[in-house]
Parts: sequence; structure tokens; C-alpha cells
Amino acid sequence: MAGTALAVQYRFYAAQVVGARRVGTSTIRVTFGGDDLAAFAGGGRDQSVSLFLPHPGQPEPVLPTAEGEDWFGAYRALDPAIRAVMRSYTIREQRPERAEVDIDFVSHGDTGPASRWANRAVAGDRVVLLGPAVADNRSVCFQPPDDTELVLLVADETALPAVGGILDWLPAGTRVRAWIEVPDAGDIQPLPGDARAEVRWIVRGATPPGSAPLVDAVRAARLPSGTPYAWVAGESSMVRGVRRHLVNERGIDRRRVTFAGYWRRGASEDALRAER
Ligand SMILES: Cc1cc2nc3c(=O)[nH]c(=O)nc-3n(C[C@H](O)[C@H](O)[C@H](O)COP(=O)(O)OP(=O)(O)OC[C@H]3O[C@@H](n4cnc5c(N)ncnc54)[C@H](O)[C@@H]3O)c2cc1C
Repeated sequence: MAGTALAVQYRFYAAQVVGARRVGTSTIRVTFGGDDLAAFAGGGRDQSVSLFLPHPGQPEPVLPTAEGEDWFGAYRALDPAIRAVMRSYTIREQRPERAEVDIDFVSHGDTGPASRWANRAVAGDRVVLLGPAVADNRSVCFQPPDDTELVLLVADETALPAVGGILDWLPAGTRVRAWIEVPDAGDIQPLPGDARAEVRWIVRGATPPGSAPLVDAVRAARLPSGTPYAWVAGESSMVRGVRRHLVNERGIDRRRVTFAGYWRRGASEDALRAER
């Protein structure tokens, strides 16, 4: 039964670009639409999806035709030069009543196919999302225990869309301390929601992502009292460093720390998936 339950948590959504615009120096917000998205049932917060993109010159992403048991095996059996590029992204906002979702793409030049695609996205471009069929699904990782009195959020620019989704979702008045590292001052953006959030922005500038500034900022902070729940996401070595600090130096119960490496400097998502 558990397998069945898991299978019905997700489905494929065909979608196309409705529009794309810069929302920061490094970030492009792409709005996707299409009839399928009227049924999109994300759980908000850090809801993530697998996004399938075409290679340059292809009119649409190439995926296995059968959606059988071993769909991923069939996908992997296709020629990597032809099969769709598969990348993980967060749903920044869902509007099923308009059959739309927004995804914020960090543009890191043309060094990765997803960034390259987002840099050129125009209305009509076709993609496929593998995403939630139900709001309660395993791709929502932000799960504060009921007794949480203080929420700690630590993120780099790739996890900023998730921070937006989390702040949108949290009940009014929730106490939040957030540390967000961005490449450029032009990436600082107003954050949504009615939580009582104290946000510290850290502009990385020329410092390489994943190095010390964010870990140092969290280490230097005086935290208010209250039972904490921490959520940490972004470049893998940053995430490791912050988690180690929260658990080993601050003594936060490891079960109250959710952490996710969203990317690793020097490794593509395909390489990370192959490692796993
Ligand atoms: C659950 C989850 C949710 C995510 N949500 C988002 C999101 O909402 N928005 C978002 O922008 N990203 C998000 N990411 C991260 C995104 O999936 C990765 O950045 C991904 O590697 C981008 O794919 P790419 O094709 O551009 O680069 P890849 O082909 O994967 O990598 C090529 C090269 O670029 C480097 N690289 C990858 N990402 C970056 C970056 N951001 N800055 C600098 N160099 C980079 C890699 O280290 C590698 O050297 C998420 C990841 C996960 C796991």
C-alpha cells in the first residue's frame, strides 16, 4: 500500500512558458501555464518539482512514452544527448485557478543547461513538470514540529524561492530568524507573509558560493529563547557547515534540523544524481 500511496503523490504536467522576467540581478521568474496546471496541487513551503527541459533546437522535452513502473529506468535508457534535461526547482507560487505556477531560476550564465534555458525562456517554450498530485507529498520538506516556538531559515539564492514559500505559509506572528546569502545587493527582495521575521541579508559579492560568510553570520548570531526548528538549504558545503554548527555547537536536536543540499559547486545535478 505504501508504494501505491507514493505513486499517487506525483504526476506529469505538460506546461509552457507564459512569461519570464528578472526579479533580481541573478534571478529570472518564469511563469508556466497550461490546462494541466489547473490540477497542480502543491503543498506550498519548499515544494519542489522535477523540471524537464528540451535541449537547444528541440521543440519540446523528450521523455519515455510509457509512464510505467520503471519510468526513471526508461528515461535513463534514452540517449543523454536527446532525453530531456532533468533539474530540481521550487514552486515559488501556484495559482491553480489560473492554471499557472512560478519558478525562480538563479541564472549562473550558460554553465548549466537549466540556467542557459532560463536565460532564453520566452512565451510558448514547452516543458514538463513531474510534480505533486496532492498537497501532502514528500517533496515538501519544511515540516516544523507542533511545539516549535522559533523558526530558523538559512538559505542561499537557490533556496530563496523556498524561503518565500515558507514565509507565505507560516501563520501570522510566527517568530522567524532568517539568514539569506545572495550574490549581489540587487538580489535582495521584499519577502511575503505575516510572520514576525527578522531577516539578515548577506551579499556574497566576489566570495565563492559555499564558503564561510553565511556560516559565520549564523555562528555570530544571538538567538532568542524558544524551542527551535531549523531549515537549511543551498550550496552543499554551506548546508553541511550550518547544520554542523546548529547541531554540534548550539545543541539543537538533529531531528529539528531539516537540511537540503540544493547544488554543489563544480558538480552538475546529473553528476550528483549519479553519485546517489
Ligand atoms: C529540492 C531542490 C530545489 C531547488 N530549487 C531551486 C530554485 O527554486 N531555484 C534555483 O535556481 N535552483 C534551485 N535548485 C538548485 C538547482 O537545481 C541547481 O542549481 C541546478 O544544478 C541547476 O541546474 P543547471 O542545469 O543550471 O546547472 P548544472 O548542469 O546542474 O550544473 C553545471 C555547473 O553549474 C554549477 N551550478 C549549479 N547551480 C549553480 C548556481 N545556482 N550558481 C552557480 N553555479 C551553479 C554546478 O556546480 C556545475 O558546476 C534546487 C535544487 C533542489 C535539489
